Amino acid sequence: MTIDEKVAKTLAELGVTDAAGVAALFAEIRAAMKEDLENLRRRGAANDAARLKMAQETRDRWLARKNGIVSLADENWLKKSSQELKPDVGRAFNELRQFGACMKVEELVKVVQLFEARDHSSDADSVPPQRAANSAAGAAEDLAFPDLTLPGLRRALGSIHPIIRVQREIEDIFLGLGFKIETGPEIESVHYNFDALNIPDNHPSRDNFDTIYIDSNTLLRTHTSPVQIRAMEKWVKQGSPGGLYIITPGKCYRNDNPDATHSPMFHQMEGLAIDTDITFADLKGTLDFFARKFFGEKTRTSFHPTFFPFTEPSGEVAVSCYVCGGSGCRTCKESGWIELMGCGMVHPQVLKNGGVDPERYSGWAFGLGIDRFTMARYGINDIQLFFQGDVRFLEQF
Ligand SMILES: [Zn+2]
Repeated sequence: MTIDEKVAKTLAELGVTDAAGVAALFAEIRAAMKEDLENLRRRGAANDAARLKMAQETRDRWLARKNGIVSLADENWLKKSSQELKPDVGRAFNELRQFGACMKVEELVKVVQLFEARDHSSDADSVPPQRAANSAAGAAEDLAFPDLTLPGLRRALGSIHPIIRVQREIEDIFLGLGFKIETGPEIESVHYNFDALNIPDNHPSRDNFDTIYIDSNTLLRTHTSPVQIRAMEKWVKQGSPGGLYIITPGKCYRNDNPDATHSPMFHQMEGLAIDTDITFADLKGTLDFFARKFFGEKTRTSFHPTFFPFTEPSGEVAVSCYVCGGSGCRTCKESGWIELMGCGMVHPQVLKNGGVDPERYSGWAFGLGIDRFTMARYGINDIQLFFQGDVRFLEQF
C-alpha cells in the first residue's frame, strides 16, 4: 500500500491499534517525505520554470489544503482516531506538521538547485555553509551530506599487542644498559641455526619432529640464536669496535602442536655481550638487574648449572616468585622460584664460528621466551590466547 493509499483510510481500517503502530505509521510517512526531497535533489531541473513546477507539485502533494497528504492524515487519522490513541496520534501529527513546514515552494526550489549547483561545480564550498534547521534544503542536504556538527561514529582504536608491549619493556631495560637491538631472517640456513651454534649433527633438535624445514638446507629458525652469529660476523667485519652488546627479539618456529604452553610460532629474545674481560659475574649482575627492573626491586635470582651446546658453562636462571615473593604458591608450585631463562658463557667454538678470536674475547648470552614473560606479567595461563585474535581478550591490554 502506498502512503497515498494509506492516508485515505482510517487507523482502524489500517489495523493500527496501539502506540507502536502509530509511531511506525508516522515514521513511514516522514520517510516518504524525505524520499520526495531526495528525488527532487536527484533530478534537478533544466530551467527556472521546470524547477518551479517541480517544487509546486511536491508542495501540493504534501501540503495542499484539500487532499494534501498532511491534510488527509489530519482528516482520516487524527480526527477519526479512537479516544485512547488520540494523544499518541496528536503528538505524532504535530511532529509531522513541523517536519512538513519545510515544504514551501521557495524552499523546494532550493532543493532542486542543490543538485544543479553540485553538478556544475565540483567545489564543495558552493554549498551554503549555513542552512536553516527547518528548511527543505537543509533536510535534503542531510540526505546527501552528514551534519559535520554531530558527534562522529567512534572507530575503535587498536592497541599494542601484549607480547609486543612486554617485548618493548624488556628492550627498554637493555637499551638503558647500552645494548642494541639486532634482528635477522626468520627463514634461516641450517648453518646459522645449528652448525655455527655448535649443535652436533645428531642433536635431537635438528630432527624434523622439532624443526620446520623448507628444504634440507633451509628452515624456519627455531631460536633467535642465528642472529648472534650474524651479529658477530658483522661486528668482526667492522673491525670489532668496542664490545658487542645486543639483544635479538623476534619470532621463532618449532614443530609443536598448539596447546596451553606451546605454539608453533613464538617469540624469543636473546642477549649477547662480547668484549675483553667478560666474566660470568657480568652475566649474573646483568640478569639480576634485569629481573629486578622487570619483576620488581625485591626480586632475587638464582642460577643452576645445566647444559647447552652453545654455552660453557651454562645455567638456568630462576627468579623469586613474583606472586608470593618466595614463600610458595600455586604459580611457583610451592617452590618459591620460577625458571625463566637459559644463559651461559658463549662456547669458544661458537665465538670462532662467528669469526671472533676466543683467545682475546669472551662473552655471555641468555635466551628468554617473550610469550612466557607476558603470561607471567599478566597472569595468562594459555599461550593460544595471544594468537587467536579475539578482540575480547586483546582489548583488556
Ligand atoms: Zn609463588
